[in-house]
This record gives sequence, structure tokens and C-alpha cells, in this order.
Amino acid sequence: MTSRQTAPEPPVTLPDPTRPPRPAPGCDVCEALDQQRAEAEEAGDVRRATTLEMEMRQHHATRPRKRR
Ligand SMILES: [Zn+2]
Repeated sequence: MTSRQTAPEPPVTLPDPTRPPRPAPGCDVCEALDQQRAEAEEAGDVRRATTLEMEMRQHHATRPRKRR
């Protein structure tokens, strides 16, 4: 095998722009993430905003995603 060793890169999954995650009421994590996301968006940092969006989704994803 001559393939280079590269870090496994997960496929980029862009969150659906039509359905931004909504912070769960009473959730401090959501609140903090949502605030940071808003700041990132204001700063034009889409990448960071997207990351925070994903974090907001993921920290509520208690079910492990099934991979087939
Ligand atoms: Zn939350």
C-alpha cells in the first residue's frame, strides 16, 4: 500500500440553512451556543457559526447515529 496516511475526514455536512437549530428553552448550552453563533454570524465567520450550529444539534443527540 502506498497510500498516504491522512487524518480521516468526515464528509462535510452542511446544516440545512432553511432549518437552523433552535435553542432548547431552559438549556444553558443551547443559549451559550446560540449566542456565540449569533456573534460569529455578525462577524461574518460562517465556518464558526456552522460549527456552533452543529454543536447545538449534537449535544442534544442522545441517540447514537446509526451508520449503515
Ligand atoms: Zn441544548
